[in-house]
Amino acid sequence: MKIYMDGKFVNKEDAKVSVYDHGLLYGDGVFEGIRAYEGVVFKLTEHVDRLYESAASLDIKIDISREEMSKVVIETLKVNKLNDAYIRLVVTRGVGDLGLDPRKCSKPTIFCIAEPMNPLLGDQGIKTIVSGIRRLPVDVLNPAVKSLNYLNSILAKIQANAAGVHEAFLLDKNGYVAEGTGDNVFVVKKGVIRTPPVSTSVLRGITRDTAIELAKEAGYTILEENLTIHDLYTADELFITGTAAELIHVVEIDGRIINNGEAGEITKDLLNRFIQIRGKIGDKIE
Ligand code: PMP
Repeated sequence: MKIYMDGKFVNKEDAKVSVYDHGLLYGDGVFEGIRAYEGVVFKLTEHVDRLYESAASLDIKIDISREEMSKVVIETLKVNKLNDAYIRLVVTRGVGDLGLDPRKCSKPTIFCIAEPMNPLLGDQGIKTIVSGIRRLPVDVLNPAVKSLNYLNSILAKIQANAAGVHEAFLLDKNGYVAEGTGDNVFVVKKGVIRTPPVSTSVLRGITRDTAIELAKEAGYTILEENLTIHDLYTADELFITGTAAELIHVVEIDGRIINNGEAGEITKDLLNRFIQIRGKIGDKIE
């Protein structure tokens, strides 16, 4: 396994960052999780754009172009001879001193890891809870920034683990549903699909955008509006989207069984549509 580190490929054992890197010391960095399917990197441009937006928000000045960043991803897949993979692309503030002042870091650290990952073919479904941990408010650290600081999600994940379920949903500070620890959430009720708007405390998921596009193409009504716990509990169908999760139905939330524990018709339809397009939209590994 070869890992891209600041301009060159190194063996996994040699892929190390400094203990003075502010990505490690302060979570001062940004990242993307990306998938490749059948030799096509799914929506690579969108992922690279989101990475640069996250970096701009934190005023991290990435010293290579977006085109070069896309090439880093493609090259990492090529070097490792991977067609179906999960890719982790990371940019940190870089090496500084022990103070948090970002001006001490002269150059961002960039690395890219690719590991084999086969496409999912639908899933058994997941059990969930509503976490007591609130998603970071947009005026604290906007979840739109995909920063290396995932502690908010990790606190909720610890609650999910303690409850013996797969995933936890976080509410925003106003009590509306935000998202899962690493995924966006959708509710289906009486044939209408709804998901929280990007103005709430959510990451604008690339799979979320894809699900919205697919739903519109299929002629469903899809609304981006505030959801409450009540909407989750009374859903006809409930599903999550994410790069790693793809599109998975929720079978249980806080002990309530959704759709008799089965994937609903609309969820299945959207998953099938996603499976059709996932190896077709994006950049080819050539
Ligand atoms: N929300 C959070 C908090 C996430 O970490 C992720 C995974 N990147 C998502 C949503 C889903 O985003 P995407 O579909 O772009 O993977």
